[in-house]
Amino acid sequence: MKYRKQIRESARLAEPYCVSKGEKFRLKDYDPRDTGDVKNKEQGLKIIENRAGLLSNLQEKLYAQDRWALLLVIQAMDAAGKDGVIKHVMSGVNPQGCEVHAFKTPSAEELNHDYLWRAHRCVPERGKIGIFNRSYYEEVLVVRVHPTLLQAQKLPDPLITKHIWERRYEDINAFEHYLTRNGVVTRKFFLHVSKKEQKKRFLERLEDSKKNWKFSMADVKERAYWKDYQEAYEEMIQNTATKHAPWYVIPADNKWYTQLIVASTIISTLEDLDLSFPDLDKEKKKELEGVRDSLLHEKD
Ligand code: ATP
Ligand code: MG
Repeated sequence: MKYRKQIRESARLAEPYCVSKGEKFRLKDYDPRDTGDVKNKEQGLKIIENRAGLLSNLQEKLYAQDRWALLLVIQAMDAAGKDGVIKHVMSGVNPQGCEVHAFKTPSAEELNHDYLWRAHRCVPERGKIGIFNRSYYEEVLVVRVHPTLLQAQKLPDPLITKHIWERRYEDINAFEHYLTRNGVVTRKFFLHVSKKEQKKRFLERLEDSKKNWKFSMADVKERAYWKDYQEAYEEMIQNTATKHAPWYVIPADNKWYTQLIVASTIISTLEDLDLSFPDLDKEKKKELEGVRDSLLHEKD
């Protein structure tokens, strides 16, 4: 398939899952089992195979041009496939131009700062792709579902009001606007897995000795709060889906489809930046010609 066609195909695949205006967003309108018009896994893998190299070409230009950065935020319930997505994306890029940061329960040092502090330090530099495996969005997810976590944040009492979540959405939107205005293109992914599929994957982790290590008691505990999490995710997307930093609500019951759509989104986002290798000025070109000549005429 020709380059242009592959780019168009990637944009077309990603588009239905993009939420850039949150008001009317309802999670129930998105089916975790959806596979769009891709017939089956084989066809999906074929699309992935056909466009091998596309992402790495775009990344090379991003790196060479050294102007834009791309921040990919990945949020999901446990076992939705975050790790698989990250592995898939990383397999298509030069590791030197890409970094992954996982955000876990904050340390004592991190809790001594404002909550964006630890994330801001990990924002990718120009030319790079940064992946956040969980992110500052945990501040309106796990912290919202478990209010005791908020107590641990050492916020002054007058700042803990019933408006705290609204304020956090505002601050996150402002932060992402700030990043965008500084050349950090931000795309956010919610891997939308069904409760039924999560159960199946947990059972696999329990029954398959090669997957035992992935099982965590904490995951099952969080599963008991499924409904609260779904509400928190819905409200989060309603309030933080913006034109400059849209959410992509990715069906996650089929891992191959999740990976296909996330990669499609990244490809089409990078393509929209109209990246190109830097053009050298006349003087620099002349200098390179000189070096080339002397290399060609080297004696030994
Ligand atoms: P995996 O299980 O695949 O290794 P993971 O992202 O689930 O990946 P864990 O170490 O199992 O990693 O879990 C990290 C935990 O840290 C999650 O339960 C998450 O909700 C929690 N966490 C992340 N950020 C915060 C935060 N700001 N406040 C409180 N808890 C947080
Ligand atoms: Mg986990």
